Amino acid sequence: MKIKILTQFPDMFGPVFGESILGRAAENGILDIDVVNIRDYTKDKHRKTDDSPYGGGAGMVMTPQPAFDALSAVGAEGKRVLYMSPRGRILDHALAQSLAAEEEFVILCGHYEGVDQRIIDAWRMEEVSIGDYILSGGELAAMVLVDTVARLIPGVLGNENSGNEESVYSGLLEYDQYTKPREYGGLSVPEVLFNGNHELIHLWQFENSLRLTKQRRQDLLEKYLANHKILTKKEKKILDNVLSEPPKLEDED
Ligand code: SAH
Repeated sequence: MKIKILTQFPDMFGPVFGESILGRAAENGILDIDVVNIRDYTKDKHRKTDDSPYGGGAGMVMTPQPAFDALSAVGAEGKRVLYMSPRGRILDHALAQSLAAEEEFVILCGHYEGVDQRIIDAWRMEEVSIGDYILSGGELAAMVLVDTVARLIPGVLGNENSGNEESVYSGLLEYDQYTKPREYGGLSVPEVLFNGNHELIHLWQFENSLRLTKQRRQDLLEKYLANHKILTKKEKKILDNVLSEPPKLEDED
């Protein structure tokens, strides 16, 4: 997959894209990320890429010319172009999946007050937000988006299955995880995880996931129930039990 990122701060990306899962995906040629400095395209003699807003107000707005030229240079015509923006659709698993199916897409990062609306309109940009808060720039948001999309591309995660059980992906929050040692400072691990019975372990994990989701994310639980997942008899019994429990007064965690 090819991703072109247009930014005024290209140096922010190197350390994030060079490490860990993203770094390995780039090395393996699965992910080809091109970070482009919008400033390289400005025709302004002072290399300016933004100016004060018409109508007044604080801050600076990205001017059309450098962005239009940078978009043309990376071949954004006819491709999906995202503009990271707090006004946009909130990034979720469904959006990440739809992007993971693309061969190529383009991301524009704003900074300061944002960008001239004509850039968004002329390039038919999809505005994407990573949450209801304001960042100083779209760079961190773009990194979050690329990271979550990359994990969905086949071959990026070492173990193809390891994405399937994750929180939200399965429709439920993930169950509690434990690792060695079995006892730590008097703290133990649930016994069921040692009995080698995979069905019992799975049922324990399912119950734990359901209970957590019910306590913390009613919205996810309702979606999960509406999706009519096919459940075994034992899973169905656990689901009915958890649903019939009275809600906790306080979150125990
Ligand atoms: N004045 C704008 C905010 C500008 S913040 C407004 O009120 O809508 C500066 C830049 O940071 C934006 O251009 C955008 O690219 C990025 N940004 C800020 N918050 C973001 C968020 N929650 N999600 C995605 N991008 C965001």
